Amino acid sequence: MARILRKPRLLDLVVEAIHACGWDVLILSSRDDHPFALSIFKGDTKVSLLVYIWNLTHGGFPRDPNEFRIQVTGVSQIELRVGWKTLLLGWSDDLNAFAGFDATKHQISMSGRSPSIQIKRDALEKAVKNGFATQARDNQEIAIAFRPDFFTSYVLGSSELHQTTAGILETKALERISREEAVDFDLEDIEPKERRQVLQTVNRRIRDDRFRVNVLRAYSHRCCVCGIQLDLLDAAHIIPVEHERGTDEIKNGLSLCALHHRAFDHALITVRTDYSIDCSEKEFQRLRTIGWHGGESEFKAALRDDILLPPKKEIYPSPSYLEFGQKLRGWTN
Ligand SMILES: [Zn+2]
Repeated sequence: MARILRKPRLLDLVVEAIHACGWDVLILSSRDDHPFALSIFKGDTKVSLLVYIWNLTHGGFPRDPNEFRIQVTGVSQIELRVGWKTLLLGWSDDLNAFAGFDATKHQISMSGRSPSIQIKRDALEKAVKNGFATQARDNQEIAIAFRPDFFTSYVLGSSELHQTTAGILETKALERISREEAVDFDLEDIEPKERRQVLQTVNRRIRDDRFRVNVLRAYSHRCCVCGIQLDLLDAAHIIPVEHERGTDEIKNGLSLCALHHRAFDHALITVRTDYSIDCSEKEFQRLRTIGWHGGESEFKAALRDDILLPPKKEIYPSPSYLEFGQKLRGWTN
């Protein structure tokens, strides 16, 4: 029997999911009841969210074990605000997955009947395995099941994902994107061009999330430069994906805390091909000259001699990627 969670606990799960994606969150509303107003942000990207969330329970009569549903109760209407994204979510505490529905398609009728919205168990199970899964619903809506660590990908892509009603080709493409083995799937046959670009954007976000999950797991959620955990980590690409040589392999990644990610991208520190950590004396010299070297000795003292490495040699950072990454960042010493 599924546990029915109260709203503050459901909010905790949303916040935990946002943190698992490497984002930060401010709770702008009461914590006791939804809709929860949240401001979520990472770097320069900021999104305002209005979150409605219910427990996913077995639905139908007679009860169908393959069908979960949310019962939209306790609210008089689903609010849509200009400049905000409204999320209509379900949470399955059995499977540890969210379901997202199109808020614009589920306005509550004047008759006061609370609608029930379904999603198949199969979609939730696929999401647990692959990160996210889509399910076409009969009212021309796509329901999205997703794992907590894909929460922000869902948020950023939700409008586009729910609008994917153009046909079987797009639905198939989304299914292939959701399967890890299909990440390089070519979307060239999707028409028109605008829809192709939407799917390519979705594909990129999903790949970023998958990369983050894989790299942080490989390094046991530690910064490879200083060893810190504390949920302050980024998965950094050694060769950025914008470059033709950039890939989402674990060996093109480093698990770095926020400070050392910046320092690595600034070429203040680097990882040499023998995995030793080096500081740019030239850059420190420049900082000393302009009087911006405060904290230099503490910064240097926190660095390991060599980076922490993943458990398996085949996923160690690639020496040739490290070398090329130095060139891209203008590393000098
Ligand atoms: Zn660090």
